[in-house]
Amino acid sequence: MQFTSVDFEQNVSKALNDQYLQQALRKGMQGFVGKRAEAVAAVPEFERLRDEARDVKNHTLAHLDYYLERFEASVIRLGGQVHWAGDAREARNIVLEICRKAQAKTITKGKSMAGEEIDLNEALEADGFEVVETDLGEYIIQLAEEPPSHIIAPAVHKTRDQVADLFHEHHSALGFDRRLTEVPALVDEARQVLRQKFIDADVGITGANFLIAETGSNVIVTNEGNGDLTSTLPRVHIVTAGIEKVVPTLEDMTVLMRVLARSATGQDASTYTTIFSGPRRAGDPDGPQEYHVVLIDSGRTAILGGEFQDILRCIRCGACLNHCPVWGSVGGHAYGWCYSGPMGAVLTPLLKDLEAARHLPNACTLNGRCEQNCPVRIPLPSLLRKLRHRQYEARLTDSVTRYGLSVWAYLARRPALYRFASNLIARSLHRLGKRRGWLSRVPFAGGWTGGRELPVPQGATFQTQWRSRKRV
Ligand code: SF4
Repeated sequence: MQFTSVDFEQNVSKALNDQYLQQALRKGMQGFVGKRAEAVAAVPEFERLRDEARDVKNHTLAHLDYYLERFEASVIRLGGQVHWAGDAREARNIVLEICRKAQAKTITKGKSMAGEEIDLNEALEADGFEVVETDLGEYIIQLAEEPPSHIIAPAVHKTRDQVADLFHEHHSALGFDRRLTEVPALVDEARQVLRQKFIDADVGITGANFLIAETGSNVIVTNEGNGDLTSTLPRVHIVTAGIEKVVPTLEDMTVLMRVLARSATGQDASTYTTIFSGPRRAGDPDGPQEYHVVLIDSGRTAILGGEFQDILRCIRCGACLNHCPVWGSVGGHAYGWCYSGPMGAVLTPLLKDLEAARHLPNACTLNGRCEQNCPVRIPLPSLLRKLRHRQYEARLTDSVTRYGLSVWAYLARRPALYRFASNLIARSLHRLGKRRGWLSRVPFAGGWTGGRELPVPQGATFQTQWRSRKRV
């Protein structure tokens, strides 16, 4: 996916003016928040599970080298192969080499954010392979030639009409003449198109929700069963996953499973949860002949052990996106890379480029809903604040912000002066806007007043009121 975080402001303005996107976001995102709340309310021990899930991930990250080596040994014992990729280019080359050796023509793919991260489809297609996404949302955006806009609902930015147009345009040549508009009919048509691709595929590529060190297994959860067909039908199965996906045992995985689906879609459990362990054994009725796991670092070890390590706990549930007012207004494409919302605003500057992605940590109101709903208790607002601090230290913050922060810091260290200045500003704003009750322009706050009016301060400042209350 082309990295366009650098154009964040432009992306946002495009998103806000896209009526189809706004319509799709309003409709598509309605259910997630309410369903999560219901699912969580039905599990009294949910907060304890969040603690346990956090602890499992923290323990694994503290001993990541050990568990990765244990995972590798377990995969080899099963007859599979593990490949270590330092960066995206290396990961792509490993996958390409496996596909070439397998003399593959058709490759089916399950949904994989790691695959998106390393631009796998583009590399495979450039090498002449036919690549078919099999998750319905991924299939839709593949037809539209767009990147995913949400980590669990890649096509949530599309309206039903847009999907109907896409299917009609691409499926007519396959004998599907009618433009269908009802959801079940569209799903059925996609199923019919994809069925033959599953049968034809030489290689299947999936991601992994979890990798299990003790058994060498990879675990995927889907609601469509496409991941299972992608993994078991082709001759070769390739798993692409970030190194942080490993957990010690199957039991540890069950703790994370209990918070994953509830946080993501509000389901008690996803429709399909499958544990794959190595290639087909003698006597097995099905399964791939070759089983490869590509472990991707691509910047993760640089995060490990540092002040941003908490983000490596992320299990890609999407809850922070679903609860983020910024994501809900502009969708995922505005963030300019495959990861969006609060987790993307932390991960993208760390994995890509702090300077190029400098807008992302600032695209946040620090309302805290992401942290409140994160199943592994990642302190996203704190991480965003730390990134802002890092930007400030690296002099990547614009001069108006730097100057404003210096003035504020100077005043904040002198309480009497701070009170005097805030009273003066409040009184001046009140005087300026008292006739209308609001202000349409405020110096240094053009970003806020460009799209809304600022109500004038109604009286004394909070501190003045507090002091007078104390006197009473
Ligand atoms: S940061 Fe937390 S809420 Fe957001 S996707 Fe990751 S696990 Fe889910």
